[in-house]
Amino acid sequence: MTRVASRFAPSTTGPAHPGTLLAGLLCWLDARSQGARVLLRLEDLDPERCRPEYARAFVDDLAWLGLDWDAVVLQSEARARHEAALERLASAGLLYPCGCSRKAVRAAGEPAPDGGFRYPGTCRERTLPAGAWRGCGEPLRLRMEPGLLELRDESGVDLSLDPWAAFGDPVVVRRDGAVAYRLASVVDDAAEGVNRVVRGRDLALTTAPQVALQLRLPGPRRGAAPGCEPGHARRAAFRLRVGSCRQCRPRGALAGRISGPRFPVPSPVGRPPARC
Ligand SMILES: [Zn+2]
Repeated sequence: MTRVASRFAPSTTGPAHPGTLLAGLLCWLDARSQGARVLLRLEDLDPERCRPEYARAFVDDLAWLGLDWDAVVLQSEARARHEAALERLASAGLLYPCGCSRKAVRAAGEPAPDGGFRYPGTCRERTLPAGAWRGCGEPLRLRMEPGLLELRDESGVDLSLDPWAAFGDPVVVRRDGAVAYRLASVVDDAAEGVNRVVRGRDLALTTAPQVALQLRLPGPRRGAAPGCEPGHARRAAFRLRVGSCRQCRPRGALAGRISGPRFPVPSPVGRPPARC
């Protein structure tokens, strides 16, 4: 039988927020309660906003909370396999350049279910020779097919959606050349054998678009984490009156509040991080 493998993948664009730690704790509890492997993947793809010191602080803060990991990886170090996936998509004629600004997408006026705007497909007919995706200088979008994806997570939440009708073609390479998180995470989940994902319910709308990408690659099941809705995270931050986990450490407040009597903080055991 295939062993369950899970992951927690926070963005390292700032100090760990209490809500992020709560999401990490829920993911870790879910995985460990099933005897699953659980990976800490530090999402550091944005060259402007992600900083190595934030990545190091995440590892430190999660260890302080008592969570251990079977491996710790930096997502940026998997650039070669992200590029291999892009090569495949480009060879299949599925990528196209699109320099449309957010303002232009907004002006098209097609509302998306997340409160933003659907990409209207302005550049969808543009072509891109297979090898030309490198150094294109424009963002690249992935040409998707319309179609309803019927999905339901383990807690019974209906996640069914037609990703193309709802959001249009997604950007997979940004203008600065960075690979978009949504593609990188699908590629990495497949490469690392991740077959279970627990995330906040606030991310439920992004599940179907992720699954649509997974249809080209093997991917994990998804389940929205109960009790990890954005309101919970905001309330936790408000009560503690802190902007990051690091600030409340001296008060000894966060571990007790997040862990509580039902989830005693385990001893910080386990192998040290492989990287960071
Ligand atoms: Zn465009």
